[in-house]
Amino acid sequence: MEALQALIELSQAAAIAPALTQGGGGNTSFKNGSEMLIKASGFRLEEVSTTAGFVNVNYPPVVDCLRKNTSELPLPDADLKQLVNEQIIGDKTFLPSMETGFHAVLNTCVIHTHPIVANLLLCSAEGENILNTIFKNEVIAILPFLNPGYFLSKAIADLGQAPAIIFLKNHGLIVHGETVEATIALQNAVIEKLNKALDFKGDIQFELIEKEAQVFELKASWLDLYFSQPSLLSKTYFPDQAVVIGQQFHYGESEVLKTKLNFNTSNKICLVNAPYKTALAIAENLSALAQIIVYNQAQGHTLTTVPDQDVAYILGMDMEKYRQALLGIK
Ligand SMILES: [Zn+2]
Repeated sequence: MEALQALIELSQAAAIAPALTQGGGGNTSFKNGSEMLIKASGFRLEEVSTTAGFVNVNYPPVVDCLRKNTSELPLPDADLKQLVNEQIIGDKTFLPSMETGFHAVLNTCVIHTHPIVANLLLCSAEGENILNTIFKNEVIAILPFLNPGYFLSKAIADLGQAPAIIFLKNHGLIVHGETVEATIALQNAVIEKLNKALDFKGDIQFELIEKEAQVFELKASWLDLYFSQPSLLSKTYFPDQAVVIGQQFHYGESEVLKTKLNFNTSNKICLVNAPYKTALAIAENLSALAQIIVYNQAQGHTLTTVPDQDVAYILGMDMEKYRQALLGIK
């Protein structure tokens, strides 16, 4: 199978929004010799095609960097980023996913997603034990929350022969394997197992109705949650929430568009003031977060959040800014 066709197949298997990925989140890669095709930053998984949405990287130097002790790198995150960007083969218009580091140290095929059904458990204190019970017959790893970039990649490199199923707290799932077929089958099996175990039947759908140029009304069964619990968005439950929404939301009694995401408390209308692709990313992230909150509140579980210093760190990252900018302009 041609490498690019392999990457497209892996990407399409993961591009089920918003159930598996939201906005430009999630990424896929395929290794062929010393080269690795990886989803480009700022693209949605369904946009990976024969002509766009991917970057080719010479990946062995990335592996070498992550096998070193952290103390050998004065600025590990910046150093890894620079090293990754120096390894781009051919067209340098787009940058590889900011999660290139962990893709490099894993098997031939890698699918990384932010599945809602996994994050129901990964965003709660009780979730780890539940995951260990659900997957008692499989070898899995559950990593604590780590900032995407060097620190997450390093933790995955430190797993050595990493289990084929890796859960990331307050973030998502990674599966990897030798072949495209086996990796897609594993991804599907993990999701099916979680859906069955949790009996997850959340209504994740929504509508974005264009009101005027770049202004969309968001309609969804879960939207009420954001009106009844307006403090919800002041905490961050997963990195993409910080990147895509962050502090750019406003509650008020009029339809004046103050920022990207506007909740009118008098008529309960939610308006998204952004280009379609950004509005879609916002709606998908809001849908995912609503399910996480509703599920855990119903279960009486304790929600876990991304620490504030990590949120600030994520927002300060060059790569994330780049991704935000791309989502805004495309
Ligand atoms: Zn991720």
